[in-house]
Amino acid sequence: MRKQFVVIGLGRFGTSVAKTLTALGHEVLALDKNEHAVQVIMQDVTQAVQADAREEETLRGLGVRNLDVAIVAIGDDLEANILITLMLKEMGIPYVVAKAQSIQHGKVLERIGADKIVYPEQDMGIRLANNLIRTNVMDFIELSLDYSIFEIIAPAKFVNKSLGKLNLRAVYNINVVAIKKGIDQIVIAPGANSVVEEKDILVIVCNKKALAKLPE
Ligand code: ATP
Repeated sequence: MRKQFVVIGLGRFGTSVAKTLTALGHEVLALDKNEHAVQVIMQDVTQAVQADAREEETLRGLGVRNLDVAIVAIGDDLEANILITLMLKEMGIPYVVAKAQSIQHGKVLERIGADKIVYPEQDMGIRLANNLIRTNVMDFIELSLDYSIFEIIAPAKFVNKSLGKLNLRAVYNINVVAIKKGIDQIVIAPGANSVVEEKDILVIVCNKKALAKLPE
């Protein structure tokens, strides 16, 4: 479904969010108080506007309150970041994502109603460390501090064995929610008879500690 987004603050983070959403086929209003930042992104988003997002009337004039998702990507100016997040929630935008500079900042954003708080540098650091340590982790989505969904290349030890025989939940404390076979084949909620084959990608839900105990 095509969604409507507003991205406020076109630094490196905001710019890459705005461009990617547009490339994925969504409608994106990109906003920055700096004219140059607006010029640079103009061709790559649906609409780019130079404005100070602290001005509520400006946001209303742009129809921001009717959009589905807002991303507050302002970094250094904490006051603007917090004020704008608060205003967007008060306007009734269903999903507001705000970029935080620190855990304390994140707590404030949570209190004022931000639906998702991101810490780009920290998140990227965690992602990189995971990739470096676990070469067979293709991708992951963090569900909570402890639990994630991981896509892993099936460990050699699992190949040609059924999930029933492997008994992964009991032995390793992991749940296999899907098995990707080749480019376009996926077995959702595989049963005990599903056999793991070479080069399969296992989509698993587990504690990060359980992941570390899996064989390579
Ligand atoms: P990044 O790490 O993503 O490059 P950053 O964390 O250094 O960015 P800033 O450069 O502080 O973030 O802010 C990002 C952008 O937000 C800047 O281009 C700045 O002009 C814009 N910005 C700051 N305050 C406002 C505001 N009140 N209204 C609109 N844009 C703003």
